[in-house]
Amino acid sequence: MGKAFSDDVLRSIRERIDLVELVGAYVALKRTGRNAVGLCPFHADKRPSFTVSPSKQLFHCFGCGAGGDLFRFVMQRESIGFPEAVQLLARKAGIPLPDRAEDGVDRRRQALYDIHAAAADHFRRKLSGRGGEAARRYLHERRLAPETLEAFGLGYAASSWDDLSAALLAKGWTAAQLEEAGVIVPRASGGGWYDRFRHRVICPIRDVHRNVVAFGGRVLDDTLPKYLNSPDTPIFNKGRHLFGLDRAREAVASTGTLVVVEGYFDVMATHQAGCVNVVATLGTALTPAHLDAIRRLVTRVVLVFDPDPAGVRAALRTVDLFTPLDLRVDVASLPGGKDPDRLVVEEGADAFRAVLEASRPLIAFVLDQMAPPGDYRSVDAKKAAAARAIPVLAALANAIERDHYRGWLADRLQVSDASLRDALAGHRSRDRSGAEGVRRAPPARPLAPSSPRPRAELVVAAALVQGRLGLGRVRALGTSAFTDPVLREVAELVCSSAASEGPLDASPASASTVWALAEGREDAARAIAELAVFGWADEEADKEVDDCVTEMEIRCLDVRMQDITRTITELELKAERVIELQQEQHRLKQAIERLREAKQVPARAVGG
Ligand SMILES: [Zn+2]
Repeated sequence: MGKAFSDDVLRSIRERIDLVELVGAYVALKRTGRNAVGLCPFHADKRPSFTVSPSKQLFHCFGCGAGGDLFRFVMQRESIGFPEAVQLLARKAGIPLPDRAEDGVDRRRQALYDIHAAAADHFRRKLSGRGGEAARRYLHERRLAPETLEAFGLGYAASSWDDLSAALLAKGWTAAQLEEAGVIVPRASGGGWYDRFRHRVICPIRDVHRNVVAFGGRVLDDTLPKYLNSPDTPIFNKGRHLFGLDRAREAVASTGTLVVVEGYFDVMATHQAGCVNVVATLGTALTPAHLDAIRRLVTRVVLVFDPDPAGVRAALRTVDLFTPLDLRVDVASLPGGKDPDRLVVEEGADAFRAVLEASRPLIAFVLDQMAPPGDYRSVDAKKAAAARAIPVLAALANAIERDHYRGWLADRLQVSDASLRDALAGHRSRDRSGAEGVRRAPPARPLAPSSPRPRAELVVAAALVQGRLGLGRVRALGTSAFTDPVLREVAELVCSSAASEGPLDASPASASTVWALAEGREDAARAIAELAVFGWADEEADKEVDDCVTEMEIRCLDVRMQDITRTITELELKAERVIELQQEQHRLKQAIERLREAKQVPARAVGG
């Protein structure tokens, strides 16, 4: 593959990282026979089109045509180049990469990860060492167990302007690198810099690959700001990362439910209490990028919030984000202004579970705010409430849900269902003409235009890529037997990959080797990924492959037959022409002889 990384490095990464596991960080996958399927992370997928082959370590989307191996997945998902993808996966696999001084961008990202890892280590040692007493006492008061502190990697930033920066500079990083990582802040005047986090409990923020990418710091007293987060950097975006998602992922995969709270202490307290499907936003409201990170992992989201006016406004703002997604969203209100952390500490895990169980659909909550219980006998009251509630109903993606809540609203406002239906239809047609702006999921990318491929060739190529078919028979057949140019290219790649691996004529090629060979050939690479997840009716598969090879053999022989027939016809036509010409030749010969005889008769008479 790329020249910058040795084949050994790429092979080790492939050996240590499972594509199903990797994709699982972004998409909830279900096993179906040989493959695993889920909602595509690359287009607005309504039913699972995204297929991963565990045995081939390749993915393919039947919706948008995206496909490839683990490097391609990371490149596309993280919008990064091949070198960055290799770095990311190597780090995940614990494989050291040689320094690549010639490539500034790579080293820059690498340095950011390394600085965060070193800083997290530094903070952790400070918490357990001398000077960490106050922080330890504080965490103890918040009832966080030593195992929880260990699991989340908590630390302490010393009460000093340069404790961390001095340690990191001594390890060889420059002030510019530390500034880009966000751990130091340049002084407003006079030059120099100082540590961003001072005398705070430090909570490392990790990405789904468990790399530390930022820090959150909390004061030990009532100093402001109470919470301080790292700024956005090339490896951290607070509108995209969710605290605790790396730890919540497995629980989320098994329950399908993700609980969203506001603070990292809420996450730690609830995880400690056994609710491990809880994550937190990092000082922002939920964003479309957050939803993009979770909507393929979960089927249900529970938003936990304060039922105060600010909390209600925040819940209302999320409606526009969720309604186009067809994802179940519930809201859970906390009693008495307590945050989840205090609730768990003071009343136990069951109190928090009870809050979650009492959750109700976001849309019901919002409509209840738009049309609160009250007196709707006057026409003005009906109209005002309907005007608030109808845009919410109109934005619902699911028709059954829309119907259900329309009925509810008609009941509450004491109007007929038909009149609401009319009002809703009027709103929706205005909406479609652009009178109202409602956020919509982006449209799916269209499929790459391609003509349908001959079924037999598809089956045989899939069998080749999946190693179901020895090469001997295909070599005898010849790759020219493939009429589809892309499938022919794939077959040629498979044959050539096996040739380069050894003399065993019948040995199946490995799909990832073939994929690697297809680098730079976009169509062939995509086709290989598609073929790798080609589905078989298992008990019939070998017979189907056999039949399809036979079909191609027959077609080849058939083509040869037609060739011969055509040639014979041509030759026969020529033969007729030969006979005609022979007859003409014969006639000419006779004519010449006649003329010669006529010329010679008088001469002979004179001489005789
Ligand atoms: Zn797709």
